[in-house]
Amino acid sequence: MAYEHVLSEVRGPVATIWLNRPDKRNAQSRKLLDELDAALAEAVRDDAVRVIVFAGKGDHFSAGHDLREAQESRADFTVEERWAYEELRYLDYSLRIWDCPKPTIASVQGACVAAGFMVANMCDLVVASEDAFFADPVVRTLGACAVEVLVHPWVLGARRAKEILFTGDRFSAADALSWGMVNRVVPRAELETATSDLANRIAETPAFALKLVKKSINRTLDIQGFRNALNAHFDTHQLSHVAEAFKTARDAGLANAIQKGKDS
Ligand code: ZN
Repeated sequence: MAYEHVLSEVRGPVATIWLNRPDKRNAQSRKLLDELDAALAEAVRDDAVRVIVFAGKGDHFSAGHDLREAQESRADFTVEERWAYEELRYLDYSLRIWDCPKPTIASVQGACVAAGFMVANMCDLVVASEDAFFADPVVRTLGACAVEVLVHPWVLGARRAKEILFTGDRFSAADALSWGMVNRVVPRAELETATSDLANRIAETPAFALKLVKKSINRTLDIQGFRNALNAHFDTHQLSHVAEAFKTARDAGLANAIQKGKDS
C-alpha cells in the first residue's frame, strides 16, 4: 500500500516502517498515525514478515505529535472529542504496537521526544545511534501530565522516570543505555545496519516461539499492573488537558510551548 507520511518496506523477513516526514522532524500528524497503524497491520498480516522495525527518515526519529496541526484542528476540542481522538490514536494505536504478535525494534536517531518517546518505547527492543536523545518535556512545557501512554516508569524505573518528567530534561543515548532503556548504541552511520543485523538474527528464531515468549514477558508486566497503570494514566492525562496550566500553554500556542522548552 502507498502511504504519504509513512514508508513501508519489506526486505526478506524484516518489515521496516519509516516515519516519513523528515522536513517536520517526523512530527506525528493524524495521517502519519493512521498510516503507521495501517502499515503495522499490513506487516502483521504478511506471513513472510518475522520482525518489524520502526524507524525515522532524516535526522530525527520523531519530535512528537504535530502540534501545529493540533493547534489548528484540535485546540478547541471538547473533553469528549479529545478523549475519543486520543484514545484511538494515542492509546489504542500504541498498544497495538506493544501487543503486536511479532518482535518489534525501534531504530532511533536524533530527537525521540514526547510522542516519539512513546512510540519507540512501545517496541520490544531499541537500537539507538550515538546522537539520539530522549525526552518527555510536556509536563514542564504544556502542563500536561506526561504524554498519553505512561510507559516511562516501566522502561526507566520510577526514579529516572520522575527525574526526566519533573525536569523535562533530555537524556542521551549513552544514558539510555546505562539505564537499560535501549539495547544498543551505535555510530549514526551504522544505525541501519545494526538494526537490520539484529532484526535478521531474531528472524531466524522460530516465529511461534517468539510470539509466545513475547506474550509471556508482556503478561509478566501485565501481572505487575502494566496495562491497568497505562489505562489509569490515560484518564489522568485527559484531566490535565482541562487544567489551567494546559489552557495557558494552548492559548500561547502549543508549538511555541515546546519550542520554549527546548530553548530553556
Ligand atoms: Zn493528550
